[in-house]
Amino acid sequence: MSEALMSDTSHPSYLRLAESGELARRVDRLEQMLESCTLCPWDCRVNRLKNETKVCVAGYLPIVSSHGPHFGEEPALSGTHLDAGQAKGAGNIFLGHCNLRCAYCQNWQISQNFRQSGETSFERLAAMMLELQEQGCHNIGFVSPTHFSAQIVRALNLAVAGGLRLPLIYNTNAYDSVEALRQLEGIFDIYLPDLKYSSSSVAREYSQIPHYVESARAAILEMYRQVGDKVVMDEARAPAPGLGDPPAGAAERAGRNPREPGVDTRSSLPSRDPEPDGAVLPHAQGGQDGPAERRGDVPLADPQDSSTGVGPGAGDRGPSWI
Ligand code: SF4
Repeated sequence: MSEALMSDTSHPSYLRLAESGELARRVDRLEQMLESCTLCPWDCRVNRLKNETKVCVAGYLPIVSSHGPHFGEEPALSGTHLDAGQAKGAGNIFLGHCNLRCAYCQNWQISQNFRQSGETSFERLAAMMLELQEQGCHNIGFVSPTHFSAQIVRALNLAVAGGLRLPLIYNTNAYDSVEALRQLEGIFDIYLPDLKYSSSSVAREYSQIPHYVESARAAILEMYRQVGDKVVMDEARAPAPGLGDPPAGAAERAGRNPREPGVDTRSSLPSRDPEPDGAVLPHAQGGQDGPAERRGDVPLADPQDSSTGVGPGAGDRGPSWI
């Protein structure tokens, strides 16, 4: 049985950046973006360093809704494909005040809690990472990190000084700005984007979000540019419909300890979305007409079925912007 994905804590990529001082410089650059916030494609341009807020209702300090070992991610992330008793879970940290308003969000009580503060210090966020490491988690997974990417990197710098060695996962709705993602290069080992829509009108209807499709595709392309597509499918995974056979050697690769970084793309397109998954993901790989060998090499996560937890309408939970 293979080890859990990213369980090798020998030298995750951000340690090199910390050693060279580059991690501290990334903090500065990301916080410059907070001064006129463009961390995501909403481009609100409010000064979050002064606690001005807009769409995500987030100021300067990070907002953490919960943290702890999580066993509901893909098996290779949670370790649930391991023998009994060996799974330690993904060390998830759920950020509050998501920048999307998905009407079907299964986490809406913690991701769209706009009327609660829940602010925490950078020191406390760093301590959470270290606690999860101490509990034996296989990795640290930031869930809905987009609007707090600058704050996460600042806290990471503190956690590294405190001894953090676990690889990092960026578990995002893919509504990330490419500019912000560029500042994350070499920090996150795994990108876990959840591609939600292939139709802008459906995106507006269910998530009150403009320009989702082109923004998410650009973001996922940037993630691929940084880390490639080497995330290894678990041997139990079936090939995704529309993407052809799994890449040659995938089953063999799934049986070894996959220490490589990569992008693991989820897709939770609602049933009303006009395009099947297989028609969307090739766009993220460089276009429908991209090389066949790349289209056939897209690593797909098991769909997390995040559309099953239907909550109240998004408009009931926060401000409407479009
Ligand atoms: S992170 Fe928040 S404030 Fe910044 S652009 Fe996105 S929604 Fe607006």
